[in-house]
Amino acid sequence: MDFRVINCRGCGRLFSKTDKGRLCPECVKALEEKFFQVREYIRENKGASIIEVSRENEVSVEQIKEWIREDRIELDSATDPDFCCMTCGVPIKSGKYCEYCKKKMVNQLSGVYVQKQPTQGEGGVQHNGERMRFLQK
Ligand SMILES: [Zn+2]
Ligand SMILES: [Zn+2]
Repeated sequence: MDFRVINCRGCGRLFSKTDKGRLCPECVKALEEKFFQVREYIRENKGASIIEVSRENEVSVEQIKEWIREDRIELDSATDPDFCCMTCGVPIKSGKYCEYCKKKMVNQLSGVYVQKQPTQGEGGVQHNGERMRFLQK
């Protein structure tokens, strides 16, 4: 069997599972719309806490935290104890790692590029990769 029918985590309806996770297509769409609403709200209400964002947008705190972990939204203040760098424990605003550890990891992944060796002509591809990471934010 290639597909499984499961209950949607959002509305409880049965649907055949896709690689999108545990939400039916309708809920995925609704969630995307929520996401844009939340992102807009955070932009207009700088400094809002997760609780406030949750209350004002009718989104669960867990969902907001998921977005933050996915680095899709960013809190204005890094005060939530749930958000600490997984490597060094420093409070962060979004994602899983602090800027310092992120840099360190990039260094390890593509040491050649970060150390900047101007004499090597191979930098193009890695440079692109780096730029794409920025664009995603
Ligand atoms: Zn659903
Ligand atoms: Zn760190």
